[in-house]
Amino acid sequence: MPTAFTTATPLADDELRDAPVRWPAPERLGQPLKLDGAKAAQGAESLGLQTVGDLLEHLPRDRREARAVADLIAGETATVVVEVKQIDARAVRRRGMRPLVEATVADASGSLRVTFFNQPWLVGRYRPGTRLMLHGKADGRGRFTVQGHAQTDQRPTSPAGAATAAACAANTATLGEFVGQEPTNSPRVEQVAASVAHYPATDGLSSTQILALVHQHAASFDDVIDPLPVAIRVRERLADRPSALRAAHFPLESGEEEEGRRRLAFDELLLAQLALQQRRRHRRTASAAPALDQTSEFTSRWLASGLPFPLTGDQRAAIAAIDADLACGQPMQRLLMGEVGSGKTVVALYAMLRAVEHDLQAALMAPTETLAEQHFATIQNLLGAEPVRAGLLTGSTPARRRADLLAKLATGELSMIVGTHALIEEAVEFNRLAVVVVDEQHRFGVGQRAALDRKGRGDQSPHVLHMTATPIPRTLALSRHGDLDHTTLRELPRGRQPITTHLCSSEAERERAYARIRDELGQGRQAFVVCPLVEESETLQARAAVAEFERLRTGPFKEHRLVLMHGQMRAADKQEAMAAFAAGTAQVLVATTVIEVGIDVPNATVMLVEDADRYGISQLHQLRGRIGRGQHASLCLLFGRKDAVRLRALERESDGFALAEIDLQLRGQGELAGTRQSGEAIFRFAEFPRDNELMERAHRYSRDVFDADPDLTAPEHALLADALAALYGDEARAPIRA
Ligand code: ADP
Ligand code: MG
Repeated sequence: MPTAFTTATPLADDELRDAPVRWPAPERLGQPLKLDGAKAAQGAESLGLQTVGDLLEHLPRDRREARAVADLIAGETATVVVEVKQIDARAVRRRGMRPLVEATVADASGSLRVTFFNQPWLVGRYRPGTRLMLHGKADGRGRFTVQGHAQTDQRPTSPAGAATAAACAANTATLGEFVGQEPTNSPRVEQVAASVAHYPATDGLSSTQILALVHQHAASFDDVIDPLPVAIRVRERLADRPSALRAAHFPLESGEEEEGRRRLAFDELLLAQLALQQRRRHRRTASAAPALDQTSEFTSRWLASGLPFPLTGDQRAAIAAIDADLACGQPMQRLLMGEVGSGKTVVALYAMLRAVEHDLQAALMAPTETLAEQHFATIQNLLGAEPVRAGLLTGSTPARRRADLLAKLATGELSMIVGTHALIEEAVEFNRLAVVVVDEQHRFGVGQRAALDRKGRGDQSPHVLHMTATPIPRTLALSRHGDLDHTTLRELPRGRQPITTHLCSSEAERERAYARIRDELGQGRQAFVVCPLVEESETLQARAAVAEFERLRTGPFKEHRLVLMHGQMRAADKQEAMAAFAAGTAQVLVATTVIEVGIDVPNATVMLVEDADRYGISQLHQLRGRIGRGQHASLCLLFGRKDAVRLRALERESDGFALAEIDLQLRGQGELAGTRQSGEAIFRFAEFPRDNELMERAHRYSRDVFDADPDLTAPEHALLADALAALYGDEARAPIRA
């Protein structure tokens, strides 16, 4: 039973009879957009509008209520929806000038005089009674300077068809105007007539001009192909794509534009997911990896008795998943997500040890020397007395030592190596590399990860475990890392003390905060003081940190031992400060955000953050992760406005994934940490968190399609395959993006 647009309402016989017949000609969508004037053409180019198809996919950002004529404010740019009362051409004295067109227009609240320059034909088009949308400025004396205009009393093609007449007429129209068909007098039209689509615009091409262009090309909505199989459209209650596009521009009822947008978003998310699935499959089938499937006497013993603590449930689940990945002959591509302190290292070490016990090699790459050193220390700790030959290779490894390490890696004498980018240099050769762990994977480029990947044995690829401590919302994880298998460590290791977070604003609170810190220091604990963020320059930032250090050293903490750490200190000085703090000889570390990653001092139980408003949610959460790492309860003191929503969220919430969702809600997807620099697709139609649920559906559906028909060769998937190829082309075969 055919139903009305995105509803379950059946269509009546006469509605069905009047339903439009479509003969889509998709090649028309590929035609270049013709524009009047270089400025408009430039504007279109900067908006990425090259073809008719681009134009139709350029959706209004929002709809604005039109202003009543009586409410116009002199000098302010506004939009009115009015009816033409009278219109005339007036000859201009000066030679070579075309006649002016002057019109009186009105809405229920009042009337205006408007002038159109250089468009004498408007007299014939905008007959009295025509409803116009005018965009421009009122002068307060009843005159209105028009910057853009379009006829607006109905959408260019009614849902009951009659598209072609408008289309023919539209072809003769020029920019800045459009010609519609006869008014339909539909009562529904009135509801939206007073709201005006607002398009993302630019210099040279205004929103109103874009609206006129869309009207002009409205017939091409019928040239749009629907790539979705009918079955899924019905199951997911989605409009057909041409209707969705039309509704997004010209809703007949409020809410339709959102329905339309959602349908377009679904396509976009689905295609992205399909591309990721393809890439994942390609990667799996294109290369083999050593199957680590022999019984694990060594690692079982190590897990059972070599560890200083019992594993958490999440850690055990992660290990089981990794075991299964490693055992099959295809390269593992797994993302291990877990906040700082969630215990990723032991999981990573397990994967590496599986390689070692198969007499193969493993490597761990970290983004900084400090992190690499820390991993190396942790690993040695976790290995205890187990006889595993491991080495550390960074940029500051002395030449002799480096030569020795390289030789032993090449012969296979060394089973395990931990390091920085130094590991991917040409000179580093492995004898039989089988497992690679990449820590803080987002800090490496695709090329760098691929380089390590190529160091596998012969034409085999190593198994790769990517790790990240940055919690991101699931929807972003799916769009960013949909080609990887995911594992999350949420459960914090047992014995971890929760962190209490307080917001402080007043001077009295500051005094109390310092007193609290002195208390902790008195009990043998240690504290971090994080200096205000100075974004303008590193030098200013360093100077601020020095000043704060001096103030604290001679004031609130004059009885205590303080060290300073900021980005402009020499590496050796930083190391010295770090060492003093780690050893406990320094009680307070005054620092800039250089401490954000890579410091593990379980005895530190307080963190004070100055000007916390300046930091983002995730950054503060990362910072806070430096405390609460030992057996003592910890305290985080955030200085900032009491009503700051972000700070309140931190006060309330300790789970990083929950905070990431809040961040997404507050800031929107484009602003999220890591979103921009990872170069990930900012979707055209989809928006998060609004489309979280849609993303889940697209993801599920992409898996269904892929499981049933991985090459998209079934007839019902032919159009989907076309759309995928058009959008992603060979990219689906590109190196895996992690
Ligand atoms: P991450 O790399 O995820 O930030 P680490 O692997 O460095 O975390 O672990 C943080 C600390 O917790 C380390 O000191 C580690 O030895 C310890 N740890 C890891 N797993 C457990 C566990 N199951 N129980 C207790 N402590 C653990
Ligand atoms: Mg770690």
